[in-house]
Amino acid sequence: MTLSQLVLASHNAGKLKELQALLGDAVAVRSVGEFSDVEPEETGLSFVENALLKARHAARVSGLPALADDSGLAVDALGGAPGIYSARYAGGGGDAANNAKLLEALRDVPDAERGAQFVCALALVRHAEDPLPILCEGLWHGRILHEARGAQGFGYDPLFWVPETDCASAELAPAEKNRLSHRARAMALLRQRLGLA
Ligand code: IMP
Repeated sequence: MTLSQLVLASHNAGKLKELQALLGDAVAVRSVGEFSDVEPEETGLSFVENALLKARHAARVSGLPALADDSGLAVDALGGAPGIYSARYAGGGGDAANNAKLLEALRDVPDAERGAQFVCALALVRHAEDPLPILCEGLWHGRILHEARGAQGFGYDPLFWVPETDCASAELAPAEKNRLSHRARAMALLRQRLGLA
C-alpha cells in the first residue's frame, strides 16, 4: 500500500504526533477532526471491530485512507472484561473507580488465575468500503496485582504486573513502557505490513 496522506481517527494530538513519527515525512498524517466532529458509535464487540468501524468512518468523512486504534485491558478470569469497555468499566468514574472495581472483581482470585493482557488493535483502510483492511493486534501479557503500585502511565497501569521487568507498568519509565507495550507491538506489526520495518 503506497500512501501520501492518511487520516487518523482520533482527536488526540499526541497519537497524531506518534503516528507521524512512525510513518516519516513521506506520509502526511491528518486528524479526522479536520473533517468532522461526529464520532461513530462503537457498536463492535471486539477491539478489532471497533477500530475498523472508526477507520471506515474517518475514511468516509475525509475521502482519504484512514487509520484507527482501539485498546483496553482483557482479564482472563473475567472472560476478557473490561475489554472494549475498559475506559468506562465503573460507569464513568475515571481511572481510580475502574481500578477499584477491578480489584473487587478479582478479590478472591489467586495469583495463578490473575492473567491479563493489554490489547491494541489498529485498522487501516484505503477507502470507506475497503474489503481488505490491514488489521494489526498487539498484546502485552501480564497479571493483575492485589494493590496499586507506581505513579507513571494512566488507566490500569498501577494494577498491571509486567513479567519482563518484574514491576507494575505504572513503575516503568515512559520510554520503557513505549518499548514493551501493546501499542508498540501493534505499531511494529503495522510498520512491517507497510514495508517500513
Ligand atoms: P483508548 O483506546 O486509548 O480509548 O483506551 C481505552 C482504555 O483502555 C483506557 O481508558 C484505559 O482504561 C485502558 N488502557 C488502554 N491502554 C492502556 C495502557 O497503556 N495503560 C493503562 N490502561 C490502558
